Amino acid sequence: MLQIQSISKQYKTGDFVCKALDDVSVSLRDSEFVAILGPSGSGKTTLLNIIGGLDRYDSGDLIINGVSTKRYKDRDWDAYRNHTIGFVFQSYNLIPHQSIVSNVELALTISGVPRSERRARALHALEQVGLAEHANKRPNQLSGGQMQRVAIARALVNDPDIVLADEPTGALDSDTSVQIMDLLKEVAKDRLVVMVTHNPELAREYATRIIELRDGVLRSDSDPYEVPEQSQEKPAVHRRLGRASMSFATSVALSFNNLRTKKARTLLTSFAGSIGIIGIALILSVSTGVNAYIDGIQRDTMTAYPITIDSQTFDMTSIMGAQAGGRTDEEKSAKTDGIYPDDRSVKQTANLTNSITKNNLTDFKKYLDNPNSEVRKYVGSTGIQYSYDVKFSVFDHDPDGTLVNADGVDIGGTGSSSVASKMTSMGPSASMSDVTGMQMSMLTGKTDTNAAPDSFHEIMPGTKDSQLISKVVKDNYRVVRGAWPTTKDEVVLVLDDDNKVPLTTLYELGLLKAADYDEMMSRIDAGKKINTPTGRIDYSKALDQKLYLIPAADQYVKGDDGRYTYIGDNADEIAKRLSTATQLKVVGVVKPVKDASATPLAAGVGYTRALTNDLIDHADSSAIVADQKADKERNVLNGLTFSPKDDAEKAADAKTYVSTLGVSDKAAMAKTLLTSSQAAGQSAAGQAAGQQTAGQQMYGATQNGSAAAGQSTGAASEQQLADSLDAYVASATQDQLVKIYDAYVSGGSYDDNLAAFGVISRDAPSTINIYADSFENKDHISDAISNYNATVGKDDRIVYTDYVGLMMSSVTTIINVISYVLIAFVSVSLVVSSIMIGIITYISVLERTKEIGILRAMGASKRNVSQVFNAETGIIGLCAGLIGIGVTLLLLIPGNQLLHHAIGNNDVNAVLPPLAAVILVLLSVALTLVGGIIPSRKAAKQDPATALRTE
Ligand code: ADP
Ligand code: MG
Repeated sequence: MLQIQSISKQYKTGDFVCKALDDVSVSLRDSEFVAILGPSGSGKTTLLNIIGGLDRYDSGDLIINGVSTKRYKDRDWDAYRNHTIGFVFQSYNLIPHQSIVSNVELALTISGVPRSERRARALHALEQVGLAEHANKRPNQLSGGQMQRVAIARALVNDPDIVLADEPTGALDSDTSVQIMDLLKEVAKDRLVVMVTHNPELAREYATRIIELRDGVLRSDSDPYEVPEQSQEKPAVHRRLGRASMSFATSVALSFNNLRTKKARTLLTSFAGSIGIIGIALILSVSTGVNAYIDGIQRDTMTAYPITIDSQTFDMTSIMGAQAGGRTDEEKSAKTDGIYPDDRSVKQTANLTNSITKNNLTDFKKYLDNPNSEVRKYVGSTGIQYSYDVKFSVFDHDPDGTLVNADGVDIGGTGSSSVASKMTSMGPSASMSDVTGMQMSMLTGKTDTNAAPDSFHEIMPGTKDSQLISKVVKDNYRVVRGAWPTTKDEVVLVLDDDNKVPLTTLYELGLLKAADYDEMMSRIDAGKKINTPTGRIDYSKALDQKLYLIPAADQYVKGDDGRYTYIGDNADEIAKRLSTATQLKVVGVVKPVKDASATPLAAGVGYTRALTNDLIDHADSSAIVADQKADKERNVLNGLTFSPKDDAEKAADAKTYVSTLGVSDKAAMAKTLLTSSQAAGQSAAGQAAGQQTAGQQMYGATQNGSAAAGQSTGAASEQQLADSLDAYVASATQDQLVKIYDAYVSGGSYDDNLAAFGVISRDAPSTINIYADSFENKDHISDAISNYNATVGKDDRIVYTDYVGLMMSSVTTIINVISYVLIAFVSVSLVVSSIMIGIITYISVLERTKEIGILRAMGASKRNVSQVFNAETGIIGLCAGLIGIGVTLLLLIPGNQLLHHAIGNNDVNAVLPPLAAVILVLLSVALTLVGGIIPSRKAAKQDPATALRTE
């Protein structure tokens, strides 16, 4: 029983108010066939929509089975339409892209009935209207009458209490109309059917009751229904109906079906949406390629120029800064009234000297070894490398069989000390740190006793202990003969990219004749022209060459007096020891690959970290080191105390020192004592005669020593000079001995001795190389070191020269600018593509207004409607994403060719990273969803009555 109580409804269009219904009251029985007659515009549809819950009344009440609908919420209306009402429209309102059976199923689909049950009930309803055999056709394959029967089946599928038909025969010919009317009459047997029509004949023939409307007012009622007393008195209570619900899968299936029927259109829409994605993907690919290229260059540069921290260093920037160009404005004094000194070069030298410092690498290594150190965050793939100055010599024989010291060619020859040989051995491939090392020793005047030969270099080890050779080395060098070393006694010969090795190195390795080298050096020193050998040396010669390694500690022999003597410069002694020396096997010849990005190996001989470790261990266990460690006060080389406590000890040490000297050394010492005394005698001519200098005394001794009396000092034999020195020392006063001590004797130091013997603490590397992968990380590392410096004492601060920073501080800025530009491009294309997708979704919603109305009429809630639209936009987004990625991948093929052609090399490769591709597809889905939210909200909010009026 349906009671319509004084319902009014107005439509406002601007200022114009149209009273569609004006205080209409009518009660309808549970089972009757009501026809509503009236001219067009009289409010028939409005009344029907209000009864069906599609439209809301302004005032009055609609009472359903004694329940007021005044307090109905949206979801109550949805459930009411879904469960209680079946709609039949004049224009059928079938969803064109769904099959007949799916159309009939709609109300069941919306209420979440399982598929099989849905199908069975839909087929049953189709049977009832006699269309079972057309179940799988599409609406446009049926005639008007058939379509209207489908609509009736759809209205009946939920077995509703009320069927509402709005001019169901309005678009049909009279024969078909009769069929439909028969059907409705049948339907009305056990339920309420309300039919709007303007065909009075049909109404009179079929309807059991006729209600006439005119201008929104009820004019006549052929069979008014007076509601029985008691039920009228029953208070109108609010009652919740079951909720219409539709699963997400259903909405996806619905949308998918819809899209499937419109393949071409969906494809076009997706393609339009994908343009944005293509844009982003292309820019992303190019920027990935460019970034990879830039990263590669940065990594290569940083591999070639790591942050190098030496145990002893000076600040290169202090000189570089001073050298750069002429006077700066601040330096100009603008004085024009006289002569002024230019102190820049003096100050520069002072700066340089002041900047020489020792770095406390022991503490710094502790800091670096801590995995939580700030620096660690920025260290690149090559890691941090510690190097140690192991002490050893290498000997070999030249083609003539001459013994050659790899550090000085002809052992005992003059070559090693000549500046010419020092300079030539640097070679063109000398690394930056070699240069600094050399400048260092020139500046400090210190030489590194027993240092490894210049041509021998440790091959950079890998980051893991198991990797004897770093990946950087293996990536940038190729083996031209043999193999990489795998043990401590295997080495490789490193060539430069032109297959060359410095000439000196070839002499040092005994591959060329030592005699030629000595001659060449003497010609250079004499300022004569030289001829250098240029001929080919076979690889096999290098591989066959026998190299004998003698660690520093083994180059000292203990004498009967317990003192050690250095024999590294004694060819005979060395020759005796070759049979027991470690033989280094040259197992391979390597050279940089073409276009090598970094060449961390200098030309010469490369040995492995295994040898370094072995040498460190060897020094620790050697006898000389053990002896020196046993007596830390006394130098094992000369028996002198390292630091004499008083003059008496100094005098004693002076005597001991002189006694250890050989005849020629004594003679040399006597000579220098004499010359210094003569000089002193001349300059101090006016001095009081009482004070004799050591030389004058000795001069006297020589005269008296008599064997060659009357001869001049210059002519005295070595033996005589030595004897006179002995005599002088024997009778000298303590003061005189102290003077000799200060002038000639040095006790050395415990630490220097251990260093010379090759003792190395693994905690104290000589050099630390920190490798970053990018300039930015290198800057971070510099900052981290500054932070470290702020936490330690003044003496423990780390000083180093940032060569890369000096060379290319502006490059980082350029790279950042490029990155930002690329990011900006990507952002712009992102925005453009979002807008595009939003517009497309919006258009799609506008186009489907009618469908939304149908869905709502069948009981779909607002949420259901937006769900369907979201599912659809999601699917379109997915398609757009996939198309975008596919098209991008295709475009990249010619794109890269173009890029390579334009740039002129193959270094920049535009590639779409797989992760980015996945993210872009997800992004496309997300964007379409966001872009579709406003339209789908709009769709959901759409008034169903208005939506259905839309054509
Ligand atoms: P009928 O179905 O009898 O032809 P309707 O119920 O469709 O008439 O319309 C009744 C009146 O309400 C008409 O004057 C129509 O113009 C007006 N009307 C209907 N719907 C709207 C609307 N959404 N906005 C404004 N006026 C409307
Ligand atoms: Mg109408």
